[in-house]
This record gives sequence, C-alpha cells and structure tokens, in this order.
Amino acid sequence: MKAVRFHEFGGIDVLKVEEVDDPKPGSGEVLVRIRASALNHLDVDVRDGTSRFPVQLPHTLGVELAGEIAEVGEGVEGWAAGDRVNPYIMDTCGECRYCATGRENLCLTPGFISFTTGGGYAEAVVVKARNLIPIPDEVSYEEAAALQVAFATSWHMLFTRGNLRAGETVMVNSVGSGIGSAAVQLADIAGAYVIGNASSDEKLDRARELGMDEGINHRTEDVVARVMELTDGFGVDLVYEHVGGELFQKGLDSMAKDARMVICGGHSGEVVPFDIIPFFRGQKRVIGSFVYTREEVKRCFDLAARGLIKPLVHQTFPLDDAREAMATMERREHFGKLVLVP
Ligand SMILES: [Zn+2]
Repeated sequence: MKAVRFHEFGGIDVLKVEEVDDPKPGSGEVLVRIRASALNHLDVDVRDGTSRFPVQLPHTLGVELAGEIAEVGEGVEGWAAGDRVNPYIMDTCGECRYCATGRENLCLTPGFISFTTGGGYAEAVVVKARNLIPIPDEVSYEEAAALQVAFATSWHMLFTRGNLRAGETVMVNSVGSGIGSAAVQLADIAGAYVIGNASSDEKLDRARELGMDEGINHRTEDVVARVMELTDGFGVDLVYEHVGGELFQKGLDSMAKDARMVICGGHSGEVVPFDIIPFFRGQKRVIGSFVYTREEVKRCFDLAARGLIKPLVHQTFPLDDAREAMATMERREHFGKLVLVP
C-alpha cells in the first residue's frame, strides 16, 4: 500500500510517498481501508520533531481517519467487512482508575493512532476493534474524518470540562480553526451567546454563518475592551482557549468574576506570564482539557446525522499531494479541515 512517511524530522520536504507492506490485522484487530484522513496542527509538530510525543522513525502521520473495514482479525465480534468506521484516536487500557471511571482520555498507559499504530496518511491501517466508532449513513467519509478531533474536543471542553449552560456567554478564541469553528456550532445549539475572535474579517464572516453572535478581529481590535462593551462590563462566563500566547492573557482579562477558562492547547506560546492577583481576586478558574471519550465522539456523530452540526471540509487532496496539503495548513488560510482522500 501507499503511505506518506518521513525518515527524519523537518519541513514538508521530508515527506515521502512510499510503497510499504500491507498491515495485517492480529487478534482483536481490523484492517481499515482509509477513505479520508484529516490533517491536524499536531501533524506539523510531529513532523518538525517538537510534539513532545514519542515518535519512531520512519513515521506515518495522521491521527484522524475514516474508512471501511477490509479485513477482520481473529476473535473480533460485532464488526464485518464493509462497515463504515472512525477509530477513536486513543488506545486505552480499559482497566486503570481513569478508564474504570469513564475518564478513558486520562488513561495511565494510552496509545495514540500514528504513534502506536500506523497513521492516517496511508491507504490502510490496523486498529483494535474495541476502538472503532460506527459512522452514521448520513455522514460522508470526508465529514467523518473532519469530525472527531474538532467536535469531540470541543464537546469535552465546552460541556464536560467547561460546564457551559444555556444563556451563558462564551468567548471562542480563533474561530477560524477546526476546534474553534466546531465550538461555535456546539455552543450555539446549546443556547449560549457566542463571541468569537479571529485574525481576519473573512473568518469572522464564516463563523457568523455557523452561529457566532459577535465577532472581534484580534489583529485590529482591542479584544478585552470589545468583550466588556458586549457584556455590559461584566466579561464572559467561559473562555474557550486553545491558542496560547497573547490570547491567553486577553482571555483571562475578558472573564467575568467566578468565570471559567478551559484550555486544550497553546501553539502560539506555550509558556506565558500569569498575573496571579486579578486571578484570585476575581475568583476565576483555569481548567485543562485533554482529548475526549468515545461516548463524546458518538454524541457528535448523532448531532451530525441529525443535521445539527456540520463538519467543515475546506479542501481534499490525493495522498500524493500530502506536501501541498500540509503547506496549505501551515499558511493558515483555510476554514475547515484539509482532508487527504487516498
Ligand atoms: Zn486506562
């Protein structure tokens, strides 16, 4: 089969389209014929060698994929060739204190697609049957590949960790990104008042179509001043933060008293100054959020099947054009996911 791999860390030039042996499903595993594979910013960090994940070389990128079962390994029940599936990004033990209490995203011995299995930038992958999530008929392969990381991460942040309720005000940082645009959609259907920010007016216009109530251009406008104008000086109840750097501090300063900030990333500045005094005087909370559970992915698929949310696909590329796809992502001009279609 064809796989896009790299043998050394670096820029897009290290990616090579190679012919490799077809993987074989072992006991409890299935072979998935990949029909769509979404790019994530994590892929850039992995390729550059800055992801802080253990990466074995040569490496096949891609954590998010959708396809059909091509072959079922020994002892697999409940799945058959032809079933449309989306594998859960993690491989968990099912037994540790976190797995046993519904928090499998915190598993003590987790594996991840592409780090402990083959990756999604390929024609096929072998995964454990217990990690498969069925794709509803109403959702295409491209949409399924674009759904999991964006929407389930967003669900976990907004509702499970952030405890967002109807009528609250949420500020979504960087609404042009995959998880930003997903958060706008989920917060809107949950009945929240959604303020979003982005680096361009075009991205804000797109987010308005998805349910964003007010937009702030964080390059040209004073985010905190605008938030205070829009909230009668109170600030927002929840900040949805995944950017880091300056937007982290602007988010803190945009919070109402007793408000929450939930964080799942910090690509634009991972180590930031933190002013402790207004933080405790305002009795604010900063909450970490990591991945999501299989049940949260299934809920998002239900919402997509009912037409309540729309996974956004900006552009699709054949596997041979993986370099161009990554270059497009690194230019950050897209709105929605970039998807490889092997
Ligand atoms: Zn576990």
